Amino acid sequence: EWEKHVRSSARIRRRPFGISVLVTGAAGFVGTHASNALRRRGDGVVGLDNFNNYYDPSLKRARQALLSKSGVFLVEGDINDALLLSKLFDLVTFTHVLHLAAQAGVRYAMVNPGSYVRSNVAGLVSILEAARSATSQPAIVWASSSSVYGLNTQVPFSESHRTDRPASLYAASKKAGEEIAHVYNHIYGLSITGLRFFTVYGPWGRPDMAYFFFTRDILAGKSITIFEGSDGATIARDFTYIDDIVQGCLASLDTAQKSTGSGGTKQGPAQLRVFNLGNTSPVPVVELVAILERHLKMKAKRKVVKMPRNGDVQFTHANISLAKKELGYHPTTNLQTGLKKFVKWYLTYYAPPSGSYLNKKGRSGSSSNS
Ligand code: NAD
Repeated sequence: EWEKHVRSSARIRRRPFGISVLVTGAAGFVGTHASNALRRRGDGVVGLDNFNNYYDPSLKRARQALLSKSGVFLVEGDINDALLLSKLFDLVTFTHVLHLAAQAGVRYAMVNPGSYVRSNVAGLVSILEAARSATSQPAIVWASSSSVYGLNTQVPFSESHRTDRPASLYAASKKAGEEIAHVYNHIYGLSITGLRFFTVYGPWGRPDMAYFFFTRDILAGKSITIFEGSDGATIARDFTYIDDIVQGCLASLDTAQKSTGSGGTKQGPAQLRVFNLGNTSPVPVVELVAILERHLKMKAKRKVVKMPRNGDVQFTHANISLAKKELGYHPTTNLQTGLKKFVKWYLTYYAPPSGSYLNKKGRSGSSSNS
C-alpha cells in the first residue's frame, strides 16, 4: 500500500521536461511550499519528514494534509534511516533530491545541541550516501543558510566571502554541510547545489521565528522583546518571501546538471554550486514590528534589550547577483506585501478569533497562500 502511494506520487505528469524529486523536510515550511509548487507544474514528488516536535507538530500535520490534497505522498521517517532511504531509491528513480530536512533555529542549540549534529551533519551524509549508491544518481539541491557568513561584516554577503567564523552551532552545522558537499562532489561525482537562504517568511511559516511569535504576542497583548546590538545598533534581516525562495529552489533544480558518477565525464567534473537566495533589502527588526502593527491594527508593547550572545548575528544582507545570473532568480515580494499575506493567513486560518482550526477535528483546511 505504502509503496503504491510512493510510486504514484513520484510519477511525472509533465512531459517532456518533468522531474522526479525526493523532498526531505516536506512537512516543514519551505518543504511544503516547494513540494506543492513542483506538483502544480507536473513534477513527481515524494516527501520525507520525521514530524519532530521542535515546533507545533499539528502545524506540520496540517501542511501534510495540504500536500495530500495536491497529490504529494509524504513518507514518515528519518533521513538517518539508511534502510528506508535505500528502499525509496529502489522504488523510484529520482532525478533530483531537494534536501530541506534539518534542525532549524539558532537558539535551540543551547537546549539540544545533538539534534544539529544528527540532522544537519549526519543526516546530510546519510542523504548523500543514499544518492551516490542509487543506480541512477540524482542531482542534489540542499538548504544551507545565510548563517554561514557568521561574524563576517563585509556587506552585502557574497558567495566568495569568508565563512570561517560561524556564530552558532546551527551555522557551524551548515558550514560543515558545505564542506561535506565538496567531498561527495569530488569523490563520487554528485552534482550538488547549496542554497544559502536568508530569513524566509510567509504563510505556513515557522512559529519559532520572530515575525510569527511577534504576531502571536501582539495579538495577545503580551510584550515583545526587541534586541539591539551591543553598541545600540539595530538588528536587521534580509527577509525573503517564501514564494521567492521557492522560485530559487525550482530554478536550481531545473539548472542542475546530472551527477557524473566517480571520475566525472569527458565534459568535466560534476557540478558544485553555492548561491545566496535573499532579497538584497535588509529591514531593521523595529521596522518589521511597525509593519506588523499596521497590518494587525494593534500596538505592540515593546521591551528593548541588548542582544545576548546566543548565536544570532546583528545583520544579514545578501548579494544575489550570482543567483540572478545563473538561475534567473528574481525576488519580487517586499516585506510589506509579504507580511500582509502572512497576517491574512494567520488570522483567517492559523489562529482565527473563533479559535485555532488546528485544534478543530476534521478541518485540515486549504491554503490561503496565493
Ligand atoms: P522547518 O523546520 O519548517 O522544516 C524542516 C523539516 O525537516 C521539519 O518538518 C522537520 O520535521 C524535518 N526534519 C528535521 N530533522 C529531520 C530528520 N532527521 N529526518 C527527517 N525529517 C527531519 O524549516 P524550514 O524553515 O522549512 O527550513 C528548511 C530548510 O531551510 C532547513 O534546512 C533550514 O535549515 C534551511 N533554512 C531555513 C531558513 C528560514 O528562514 N526558514 C533560513 C536559512 C536556512
